Amino acid sequence: MSTATPETFSFQAEVQQVLDIVINSLYTDKEIFVRELISNASDATEKLRHLELGEDPVFQSGKDLEISVSFEEDPATITFIDRGIGMTRDELIENLGTIAHSGSKAFLKALQEGGSKNENVIGQFGVGFYSAFMVANKVEVFTRSWREEGDNLVWTSEGAGNYTIEATEDSLDRGTKIIVHLKDDYKEFAKDWKLKEIIKRYSAFVQFPISLGDEKINTVQAIWLRSKSEVTEDEYKEFYKFQANAWDEPSHWLHFNADAPLAINSLLFCPSENPEKLGFGRTEPGVSLYCRKVLIDSKPNGLLPEWLRFLKGVVDSSDIPLNISRESMQDSSLIAKLNQVLTKRYLKHLGDMAKKKEEEYFKFWNTFGVYLKEGIATDFTHREGLGKLLRYESSATEKGKLTSLQAYLDRAKDEQKEIYFLNGKNREAIEAGPYLEAFKARGLEVLYIYEPIDEFVMQHLGQFDEKKLVAGDQKDLELGDAPEAETGEALPEEQATDLTAWIKEALGDQVKEVEVSKRLVDSPAVVLSDDKMMSQQMRQMMQQMGQDANLPEEGVTLQINPRHPLIKNLAACHIDRAEDAKVIVAQIFDNARMAAGLLEDPKDMIARIYKLLENAAK
Ligand code: ADP
Ligand code: MG
Repeated sequence: MSTATPETFSFQAEVQQVLDIVINSLYTDKEIFVRELISNASDATEKLRHLELGEDPVFQSGKDLEISVSFEEDPATITFIDRGIGMTRDELIENLGTIAHSGSKAFLKALQEGGSKNENVIGQFGVGFYSAFMVANKVEVFTRSWREEGDNLVWTSEGAGNYTIEATEDSLDRGTKIIVHLKDDYKEFAKDWKLKEIIKRYSAFVQFPISLGDEKINTVQAIWLRSKSEVTEDEYKEFYKFQANAWDEPSHWLHFNADAPLAINSLLFCPSENPEKLGFGRTEPGVSLYCRKVLIDSKPNGLLPEWLRFLKGVVDSSDIPLNISRESMQDSSLIAKLNQVLTKRYLKHLGDMAKKKEEEYFKFWNTFGVYLKEGIATDFTHREGLGKLLRYESSATEKGKLTSLQAYLDRAKDEQKEIYFLNGKNREAIEAGPYLEAFKARGLEVLYIYEPIDEFVMQHLGQFDEKKLVAGDQKDLELGDAPEAETGEALPEEQATDLTAWIKEALGDQVKEVEVSKRLVDSPAVVLSDDKMMSQQMRQMMQQMGQDANLPEEGVTLQINPRHPLIKNLAACHIDRAEDAKVIVAQIFDNARMAAGLLEDPKDMIARIYKLLENAAK
């Protein structure tokens, strides 16, 4: 029952602009109006709580600070009630009729810069109070200010051009009651399950109790805003399960708060299992972006690098709506900055873990190391930091034990200028192959790498602490002379040269060169790649992927060991029995290729071995 006639006001031009866009927008997530109205209710309640702590008398002080949501199905309305600060008449005009407030201001700015991509912007900022007009043909705001002296007021608008304010004689409780009259198309929002779902999704962390009808919607504490010392381990674990919708326990977490250069409150969790390894397909980003406890985007791209997609959790930055200046969050320099700061901080966290809790780190490495490798191979920004986190077996570790590149260098002699690695299926394969012996004879450590991705890692990393990473199966290795004692009597130089020339002729185009090896100790021969950084398996893999065009010119070199009895015998044999020698040399070459993992089809080789056996059995 109103006493005075309603007074009519025009919206400020900018407000009308926002309203027109909101009303005509095809933006699909209309439901965000619930998030926006609850967040306003929460802001107003928070302000009231501060006032109650101060000196000024507060109207109806001491009430429960609850937010309530209710609905009617026919005609369809949704009502939001808070016991916050309410609004005076001037405040109604100022807050709901002009665009001085933060949310819509940022929206307008983004709009002006973003042109036609408005749809996105609505979702990313919400447009505050006005988002109600996406679904409503009328909105009523009943409000009573916190000040002792005050009027009971109703603000009403249909979103077109103007609004009215009138006093009502009904005595209102302090705070604000907003009735959203739904358009026919959006009646479906006035349903219990629907509202519950929306509130749980977007407003789970509002710090005041929310009720929907008679039911309390459980809100969860926004523990990322609390200080680390106040949060218990169980609270972290519970929160992880809630936020990530997970059944496992987090294997570790990083709770990180900073004020400068950006306001960040973040809580990052690492799961205990790698879902991609379990065959669930590619993981979507799982760290959600919040602004002061209100969800902005649950799967924001660009907030963290792709290779950290296994992380779950929350990043909250109160800087977001104010600083955002582009039409899309992904391009925003603010998001890029958050990304930089968070990634660096998380890598530091892993580094500390590797130092202080080595076993825990190894466990992490074995499950999630592949993502860090992906990071090195795809993202140069953090390559150096990631390089420190690599762990491999090596010729100096026991089976199953891992070393860092730094520890490798700590063990190496000062003169050593390179870090060597060899790849193979597993430790046994590398140790049985012909490549390791040269390093062993010289007391040089070699990293063992087992996965194809590790080769990409070595290539992209290139060096560590200014020492080059070098594949151990390439030709131009300068390993220095092996200690004398290890080597036996060699074939005289002239005979050796003669033999290599003959072998080259016998093998023809299959080899680029045949030469006398300085590196071999126990094996008669080895094939070596000409390519400094690319092993032969890698080359083969790229060929299988149809990447031939990107490959440097192919060439394998066969090196023979002039100290090996088989080679010494061959030197005599190729003169006396050239035909037999050809079969033998073909077999030596195939054996060397097999050791290098390069023999694709063993058919010819098997036939040849039978031939050789036949002769041996004569
Ligand atoms: P923002 O929340 O970013 O300021 P909104 O468009 O959501 O922008 O709200 C505009 C303003 O209206 C708020 O800043 C606040 O002053 C006022 N307001 C909205 N809802 C309420 C409410 N429930 N209680 C008190 N004031 C409110
Ligand atoms: Mg708001």
